[in-house]
Amino acid sequence: MKTICVVGAGVIGLSSAVRILDRFPNIDITVIADKFTPHTTSDGAGALLEVYAVGDTPLELVQKWGNETWDHLKNLTFSVDAGSARVQQVSGYWVSSDPQVILKTNRDGENISRRLTREEMQLFPQAKSGQFFTTYLVDCTSYLPWLMKRYINKGGKIINKTIQSLDELYPLYEIIINCSGLHSHQLLGDKELFPARGETIRVIAPWIKQLYIQEIGEEITYILPGSKNVVLGGTCQKGNWDKECNQKDRSALFERCCQILPSLKMATVDYNWVGLRPCRSRVRLEMEPRSAHTKCRVIHNYGHGGAGIALHWGCAQTVVDLLQDLMNNTSINSKL
Ligand SMILES: Cc1cc2nc3c(=O)[nH]c(=O)nc-3n(C[C@H](O)[C@H](O)[C@H](O)COP(=O)(O)OP(=O)(O)OC[C@H]3O[C@@H](n4cnc5c(N)ncnc54)[C@H](O)[C@@H]3O)c2cc1C
Repeated sequence: MKTICVVGAGVIGLSSAVRILDRFPNIDITVIADKFTPHTTSDGAGALLEVYAVGDTPLELVQKWGNETWDHLKNLTFSVDAGSARVQQVSGYWVSSDPQVILKTNRDGENISRRLTREEMQLFPQAKSGQFFTTYLVDCTSYLPWLMKRYINKGGKIINKTIQSLDELYPLYEIIINCSGLHSHQLLGDKELFPARGETIRVIAPWIKQLYIQEIGEEITYILPGSKNVVLGGTCQKGNWDKECNQKDRSALFERCCQILPSLKMATVDYNWVGLRPCRSRVRLEMEPRSAHTKCRVIHNYGHGGAGIALHWGCAQTVVDLLQDLMNNTSINSKL
């Protein structure tokens, strides 16, 4: 029997696999990856529902994927289905050196933010504009295990292995969903993919209940009050493949965060982390056209930059739609 293989067990691979099983409960599906939670890039992400560094991905696609993900995480926040997955609604300040403030809206175009008062703006002397808004924050170290459990409970299989080429998966698997993130650079030779290195510091500071994002020119600094710790971040070094923590970057980041919120000096460090955002000219979410060189059918879902969490559930739905199209047009349908 022909089977489906998802390459990758980050947030993109696991959500694709779960949504495929939701749509096709009897399908034979395997996730193959060389890293599983808690060792993927997704585990270390911020992970705020904000779209960042997605290149020239068309706005209508970003909105569609973002809205679907927003609805999913909102439902989880207010449902017992979330189980051990920690997804929370958070509110806080977004300030910028750009005097123009574009107030955030929801999918119906309703405002979900308000301008800061003059008194509030005095808290951020470097900023020229600001808003107070509400969004969602995911603790991926609990969300990825939740996705994994859901996948296994539905009958999904896993293999821990490094793939050198997608061709090696044929003929065992007829359809491949490629969710290998930044590694598609090596796996496919996709030179449009590049890393944007980010360093974060997790601190224990339970008195911080709101989020703070400060955008000064190109430099972004954020403080995110997670359920276990507070995430300090904001480094984005394009083209840098270094996965080691850098003391200089870390000190500069901590100083920037303390300027926004001096009480952070009282916090204790939980751990430091470095990750590489899988940036691309645009998110690649498409079926690869069949060619004489293609041994199996491939749906690519990678290159989500700094927005993999913010877009994952909507992207997974598009994977399911592409898969449905494929099955409607081929004899694979009869085997599922
Ligand atoms: C500092 C930082 C902060 C971030 N903050 C946010 C945020 O606030 N909001 C947000 O939406 N996004 C954020 N991101 C971005 C987000 O982390 C990524 O977009 C997302 O994790 C990409 O998910 P992925 O599943 O594609 O990749 P990954 O999590 O890297 O998973 C890739 C998977 O593919 C597997 N794989 C790859 N190659 C092979 C191979 N050859 N053989 C077998 N397995 C393979 C890996 O083992 C892994 O399982 C942040 C990223 C960083 C670095």
